[in-house]
Amino acid sequence: MSNTTLHLTYLSAAWSARQQASALQLLITRARQDPYLALALAHIDTTEMKGVLDAAGMGAALAEAEAERDLNAALAERCRRREAVQAEPGTPCVCRHSPATHARRLTAQGKLPCRHDGCGCTDLSFV
Ligand SMILES: [Zn+2]
Ligand SMILES: [Zn+2]
Repeated sequence: MSNTTLHLTYLSAAWSARQQASALQLLITRARQDPYLALALAHIDTTEMKGVLDAAGMGAALAEAEAERDLNAALAERCRRREAVQAEPGTPCVCRHSPATHARRLTAQGKLPCRHDGCGCTDLSFV
């Protein structure tokens, strides 16, 4: 690599790092002024996030977090219902279909309808 190429590579890296540092400094300053922003930033787990935090990047991360929230809320509800009647793991719904055959997300009414074609079960139930 020629000295000129190295020079340009380091200049480019320095420019990128300067932009990153400037953006982080802005967030630190604003977070100090706004405790709600500080709290929101503290809740963002960047471990699996990739790319920049522009509107599209944050939108994608938001969609992923909401999907994970909904899937886990449905799984938690499935467990809660099983525990409530002390049903063994593997116990099917009263419609005879497995809990996994039911909705992967709670409906707005908090139900887990069966997804099996023509079943008609409107809510997962073990009794
Ligand atoms: Zn069912
Ligand atoms: Zn069913």
